[in-house]
Amino acid sequence: MIFFVQCTTKSDNLILVKNGASDYSIFISDKAIPSEKFAAKELQKYIYEISESILPITNEYQASGKHIILGFEGIPESVLQDVDVNSFGAEEYIIKTSGKDILIAGGNPKGTLYGVIDFLTDQLGCRWYTPDFKKIPKTKDIIIYAISKRDKPAFEYREAFYKEAYDREWAVHNRLNPSMSMPPDSMGGGYKIYPFVHTFYQLVSPKIYYKKHPEYFAMVDGKRKGHEAQLCLTNPEVVKIATETVYRWIKEQPDVRVLSVDQNDGYGFCECKKCKTIDEAEGSHSGSLLQFVNNIADTVAQTNPDIRIQTLAYVYSEIPPKNIKPRPNVTIRLCHYEYCSAHSLEGCDSHKVFLERLKGWSEIADRITIWDYFTDFNHYLMPYPNFETFKHDVKFYADHNCIGLFAQGANVAQNGGGEFSTLRAWVFAQLMWNPDQDAQALIDEFVTNVYGKAAPHIKTYIDLLHEKVKPDSVYFSIYAKPTDGGYLTPEIVQESVNLFKQAEETATNDSALLKRVELAELPIIYTQLYFYSIGGQAYLSTENMPKILKKFQRIIAENNITQLAENPKRSDVNEFIEKVKHQYKYLTNWYIIGPFDNPDANGLLIKYPPETEFDNEKSYPGKNNRPVMWNYVENKESGYMDFMKLFEDRNDGVAYAKTTMEFKEGGKVKIGIGSNDGVKLWINGKLVHTNQIARKAEPNQDILTVNLKKGKNDILIKIDQTGGGWGFYFTVIEGAELIL
Ligand SMILES: [Zn+2]
Ligand SMILES: [Zn+2]
Repeated sequence: MIFFVQCTTKSDNLILVKNGASDYSIFISDKAIPSEKFAAKELQKYIYEISESILPITNEYQASGKHIILGFEGIPESVLQDVDVNSFGAEEYIIKTSGKDILIAGGNPKGTLYGVIDFLTDQLGCRWYTPDFKKIPKTKDIIIYAISKRDKPAFEYREAFYKEAYDREWAVHNRLNPSMSMPPDSMGGGYKIYPFVHTFYQLVSPKIYYKKHPEYFAMVDGKRKGHEAQLCLTNPEVVKIATETVYRWIKEQPDVRVLSVDQNDGYGFCECKKCKTIDEAEGSHSGSLLQFVNNIADTVAQTNPDIRIQTLAYVYSEIPPKNIKPRPNVTIRLCHYEYCSAHSLEGCDSHKVFLERLKGWSEIADRITIWDYFTDFNHYLMPYPNFETFKHDVKFYADHNCIGLFAQGANVAQNGGGEFSTLRAWVFAQLMWNPDQDAQALIDEFVTNVYGKAAPHIKTYIDLLHEKVKPDSVYFSIYAKPTDGGYLTPEIVQESVNLFKQAEETATNDSALLKRVELAELPIIYTQLYFYSIGGQAYLSTENMPKILKKFQRIIAENNITQLAENPKRSDVNEFIEKVKHQYKYLTNWYIIGPFDNPDANGLLIKYPPETEFDNEKSYPGKNNRPVMWNYVENKESGYMDFMKLFEDRNDGVAYAKTTMEFKEGGKVKIGIGSNDGVKLWINGKLVHTNQIARKAEPNQDILTVNLKKGKNDILIKIDQTGGGWGFYFTVIEGAELIL
């Protein structure tokens, strides 16, 4: 039996369904808008799923009958009483009992629909956890107690950028209003932003104007630039043309209420005297930008008071201006990226700069929407323990004048299945509606229901990883690799494998549950295979690899996962599978010495003693004259020789590694080097390769064919450090047979 909100007196009870039968009908005016008619069908459908009772939908109100009344259109005064119909926002609604009737009604276009979703969710207990998994209670009796509830979302723009969240029914049931892959208007529609982002060259086209009027475009390094840069925002003609474009957009897109007047991607802001003067006075490039946007917004406010102008605070414009304030019809779209993913906004120091900016904007802007990033762009499938970020940050944003959140996840349309994508999308949806909810309780609810009998093991797995990244010293970004962050140790991965083994055992007789458990397990399988593919021996044995790889291929096929990263060039599934199958021979036993000085980032060119002799008993003057010696290092976790783990002084310098390779026969051998950053390689004392470069290491970035002799060959490698990580991979790809 379902009870609907406790109330004082028993006489207020409304018996909606008794013994599977109901004398209620759903009243909706024939003049109701399409989303309200859709809401009526949804209500009918789910009350039937709950109770097997069909409530007829009628557009005739019978004074003697019992109704669930949907929408304000055509309802009797006796039901409406003191409710002010015109006071409801587009997504705001009321649910109230009135005599024997229940009223669910709200603003146009989504109030009534969201009221019905509230009734089904919060009151009747329905949940749409994933596009494939819902929970609909079953009962033959539904009793409704007196209620009067008015509600609306905390954020007017709510988008969880996960493929799973783009299932239209799922999005509507969880009251998201995405701007991309929008539900149709008949299902309430989405949040229409036009154009989506980076619009300067759409506002003032370089193709049309650059030749005749280079002065419309940004002055960069003394020259007017009409490509990969911005506009000259203080030129009155630019304001005029941009305003005309905005009016053209309004005409072309009559139902859009949010128009993007925002900077292009990258840099290239205008440095002309006028622009510079404002920017200097305002202490930020947001100065000239906001003056320009305000100009357009003022004009639009006079003719179209319901339209909002949205602009980015991004890259060079993130710092709020000192004096200029955004107009009330301007929305600031502030981006939060490349910060720590392990901890919340207030959880560690890495967010300090962003917090200052957010607080600054929230003091001057009524309307801020946040563009934040909650996935690993390079490894969608990698375990990514960042639950602390959204558990805290969604509410923090709501408390700082933010009226929207774009939570960018594993979004690539053909992909899906990013780490805990369904859990993240569902929790985001709930918190964006009401951030005062207990986020951990929402996560627990999802895990308990979606993973059923397997839930305790999955919960332990989630806690295990999050416990590991709690310390302040842990850092991983939205571009992290499994080798970064330090939380994917062989021990943690083995413990996780064991937990999923137990989870799977509980699901052996439930194939749908097993499929969900395996999808949750996929990140750990991916981790095992990833480390194996880069020469790791501690995560997966050669013997077990084919079995695990087969399981990986089956799970991704069953879930239609085709993309492993945001960048299509780095995300090919088949390429990854090939790398696992053809695990190259990685050299992981080395003598290592360093760091040595790297003056002006030219240390790679300076000849230090290791280039002339090898003596592992001797000490040499290293960086800042600190004595350094050769140390023997063996890495079983992966083929990556990580200098960051070996040296205390690791932000700048050069270091050497030395080993020998023994061959049965001599001949040509193809070898691969991956390095962070630049690299020099000597074989048997002869320099064979130099690449002065700043990069992140991936196996086989440089491939070369070298002549090696029968028996032992000396290998000496030198790597410099210009920032970020520091280390290298060395692989034997093919050629003469190596003696291990
Ligand atoms: Zn300018
Ligand atoms: Zn942190």
